Amino acid sequence: MKEFDTIAAVATSLGESGISIIRVSGKNALKVVNSIFKGKNGRTLEDIKTYTMRYGYIIDKEKNEIIDEVIVSFMKGPKSFTAEDTVEINCHGGIISTNKVLEEVIKAGARIAEPGEFTKRAFLNGRIDLSQAEAVIDIIRAKTELSMKSALAQSEGRISREIKSLREKLLGIIAHIEATVDFPEEDLEETTAHIIEKQLKDIIEEVENLLNSANEGKIIREGLNAVIVGKPNVGKSSLLNALLMEKRAIVTDIPGTTRDIIEEFININGIPVKIIDTAGIRETDDIVEKIGVEKSREKINEADLIILMLDASKNLDKEDIEIIDYIKDKKYVVLLNKSDLENKINKKDIKELNSEYVIEISAKTGEGIENLKEAIKHLFFKGEITTKDTLITNTRHKESLLRAKESLNAGLLALNNTMAIDLASIDLKQAFASLGEITGETLEEDIIDKIFSEFCIGK
Ligand code: GDP
Repeated sequence: MKEFDTIAAVATSLGESGISIIRVSGKNALKVVNSIFKGKNGRTLEDIKTYTMRYGYIIDKEKNEIIDEVIVSFMKGPKSFTAEDTVEINCHGGIISTNKVLEEVIKAGARIAEPGEFTKRAFLNGRIDLSQAEAVIDIIRAKTELSMKSALAQSEGRISREIKSLREKLLGIIAHIEATVDFPEEDLEETTAHIIEKQLKDIIEEVENLLNSANEGKIIREGLNAVIVGKPNVGKSSLLNALLMEKRAIVTDIPGTTRDIIEEFININGIPVKIIDTAGIRETDDIVEKIGVEKSREKINEADLIILMLDASKNLDKEDIEIIDYIKDKKYVVLLNKSDLENKINKKDIKELNSEYVIEISAKTGEGIENLKEAIKHLFFKGEITTKDTLITNTRHKESLLRAKESLNAGLLALNNTMAIDLASIDLKQAFASLGEITGETLEEDIIDKIFSEFCIGK
């Protein structure tokens, strides 16, 4: 295990709460906290056993005053989150008490931790690899139970195991090829070349399988950007309200009232969907509305999914057609809203659109909303959404896999050309390195630093 200085941070969120936890990690963690701790009947922390807690006070040593009443827990390394000695001080959950305790810990010799530094230590100390470390922040940021479960599987090492096994297989092949290059008299027999080729193809297939999960995985981790578009008064805010099941967006009868873009996350069968309600994309002279319109065009261009809303109780007009024209090359669903009223939309008018995704709904009664959810699931997920298979949720991992695949294919090509067999080995080594980026074995230090800098303080 590497040795680092002792760091400290508030691990809970700062505010008014029952308790706050100040986390201290490093070789001197226990010594630092012991120096400001006073237990009942003068007990110290010197004889505290690992995985136990002790009741007492944190003391301002200069003034010899009690700062707060606390319970201190101790986890001896390497059996702790960071794999170092870790002490956690549970104090009262007020901003003042929490900051005072942290201040005292710092005065006693610890240093304020950088964002993600605790997890980074777990990584640097070899307790977890980089993909597992990244999963920690994904667990914290998960927006649905499904995203949480997939992050948890990653933190338990599911991706790590697959990558490790791929790299081991690859290493075997590289060793074989190198031996042939080093001892040319033992020419790579045809049968061996055949076997290697087969093994390589299997590896490529496994990489492709992982890559195939990346689109769905990204949506599970980051959510789907869906934009509701439609001219004023078709019922966009009403739909958003129905989906959120609470009155957030303003619903009015006056066209053009949803001027600001409203963004909300909803949970559709486990998929976090960010629904954006826009001001429509019609031409307008009103300055305020113009800004809204500009913003909507931007949002539409960035969206993963367009939810186009038409008012089925009215005939289509020029404005609707304009919007239909604007979105028809994107991924979309069309909602014929106000199905509770008499339908005036002629199917002919929307014949350019894929009828599979034309859904009748009523934002008012809720009718058809389930069909909308099903359509969204259908558009982005091939089958049932489960977390049983390994999912590539992180774009960084996807990029490394893509690079690995490229090198593997180049290696395969070189292998088929007996003259270039040493080139195959170079390509395969490159693939080996690309796969290693996922687990952090072959990643530059500054990239690793950047990954951890996006964490929250205290984690
Ligand atoms: P937006 O401008 O597109 O956001 O439209 P709103 O959601 O503000 O709705 C405009 C008007 O249409 C309001 O009076 C809503 O109550 C009404 N409305 C919305 N959806 C339905 C629906 O499904 N059926 C009926 N009958 N009225 C609706």
